[in-house]
Amino acid sequence: MVLTDINVIKRILSKHGFSFSKALGQNFLIDPEVCPKMADLGGAKDGTGVIEIGPGIGVLTVELAKRAEKVVTVELDTRLIPVLAETLSDYRNVEVINADVLKTDLFKLIEDNFNGKSVNVCANLPYYITSPILMYLLESRLPVESITVMVQKEAADRLCAKVGSRDSGAITVAVNYYAEPEVLFDVGRECFMPSPNVDSCVIKLNVRKEPPVKVENEEFFFSMVKAAFSQRRKTAANGISSGLGISKDKVSEALSASGLSPTVRAEALTMEELALLSDNLLKVR
Ligand code: SAM
Repeated sequence: MVLTDINVIKRILSKHGFSFSKALGQNFLIDPEVCPKMADLGGAKDGTGVIEIGPGIGVLTVELAKRAEKVVTVELDTRLIPVLAETLSDYRNVEVINADVLKTDLFKLIEDNFNGKSVNVCANLPYYITSPILMYLLESRLPVESITVMVQKEAADRLCAKVGSRDSGAITVAVNYYAEPEVLFDVGRECFMPSPNVDSCVIKLNVRKEPPVKVENEEFFFSMVKAAFSQRRKTAANGISSGLGISKDKVSEALSASGLSPTVRAEALTMEELALLSDNLLKVR
């Protein structure tokens, strides 16, 4: 069964009375080259385990199953479960879980299914929850080697931007803290059914063993980063002061102790500078 063939997709979906849900971000891949490439670059190989999020009708799942020892895939839409039972019936090494990935205990999933194997995440993400999913995976420090995901092109630019560059945002800092992001390849809107009105990109987050900077208080560091980036056209000091309720004088003091200009913008700050500023703010607040 060729799951990128539009006629095959239409036949299976109509047999199961399925119609696409925009709310669940259902755009299924129909380009035969994308999934094999994603599976290869995503580290699916002999002896490894893969967690997939949102299998749809299983087009990426089968490519992962051909390469990895075991694939566990989490699909929220109950209507797709009988479809997947049909499309994945040849693959004994796939387990489908009908659940919301954001409410799934992925630590338990790994413990129950992968038995010490190296695990990677590989997914064509539902775009409406790209950031919550990535942050859930990274912040929980899930024991995975890498996270290879298809995201909107715009999101890819932000997630993979260099910290301290114009495109960076609070999420860029968070992603770079937990992982080394890398852009793999672009995927045009014509590669999906139905075709979305944005282009996409596959990125890989290579999970770090240790963060690139050491901070006194991780929670405070991330609150400060969020506040600093909250008012994009204003200075970092303004955002931090209003976001964290710390007086402008104290923020200026911490900026000065960190060797930074009082008018610096958040997107100009490097990871090291943000870490130092957070430690100095903790001292003066
Ligand atoms: N992997 C398929 C493909 O590439 O053709 C489908 C990808 S589609 C962009 C996203 C999939 O994620 C859909 O199947 C959708 O039902 C599922 N999904 C949406 N929200 C989800 C959630 N919270 N947890 C798990 N799956 C979800």
